[in-house]
Amino acid sequence: MTALFISDLHLHADRPAGIELFLRFMRTEASSASALYILGDLFEAWIGDDDSDPAHAPIIEALAELSVRDVPVYFMHGNRDFLIGREFAAASGCRLLHEWHVAEIEGQRVLLTHGDLLCTDDTPYQELRRLVRDPAWQRDFLARPLDERRAIADSLRERSRTETAAKPAEIMDVNDVAVDAAMRTHDVRLLLHGHTHRPRVHDLTVDGRAAQRIVLGAWYEHGSVVRWDERGFELATLRA
Ligand code: MN
Repeated sequence: MTALFISDLHLHADRPAGIELFLRFMRTEASSASALYILGDLFEAWIGDDDSDPAHAPIIEALAELSVRDVPVYFMHGNRDFLIGREFAAASGCRLLHEWHVAEIEGQRVLLTHGDLLCTDDTPYQELRRLVRDPAWQRDFLARPLDERRAIADSLRERSRTETAAKPAEIMDVNDVAVDAAMRTHDVRLLLHGHTHRPRVHDLTVDGRAAQRIVLGAWYEHGSVVRWDERGFELATLRA
């Protein structure tokens, strides 16, 4: 049985091919997996569980279908869909995970996280993150009408695009000290995350022992998946 890991699909009505690739993945290999872990940014944007965007319906249905087939689906928030809440979880059957989660896969402990918390060199982003993850900010945001929320989300995305374009690439990658600290704190030799859109398996040394950091890619032209069974894990590209 294979556990599957995906992240950074950034699904949006403007990119129907991405939604199609995800739905095909759900109908095919995901439907016979032992578990599916979604490590954040499934959606390009999420302004609240009460947003009835018609593009979301088939995605939620596909997730619910997996739960009906007894394939557990775990979901961790990304920086785009951090407002996913209990209503979404109930409708989709997803079990929500905290921002750091240690899973045991084939007898190995692996630390799962979206990845943005590891990008500690990007201080303006970390400040924005603290703001939007504040429960008071979220309560205030969710109390606003949907149009207003959509406008705020668009302006945050726009701001992120401009700022991202102006930042040196290394600022937006993970910080090695943060990676080392996270792996020591959780006592793991495997770390799996997305967010940076730089798919790769990195060999590391943590506490004098061999360790690995596995990075999932984004789903733009292609999909990206980690398949993990009794022979170990592989990071693969899904062709559209
Ligand atoms: Mn992200």
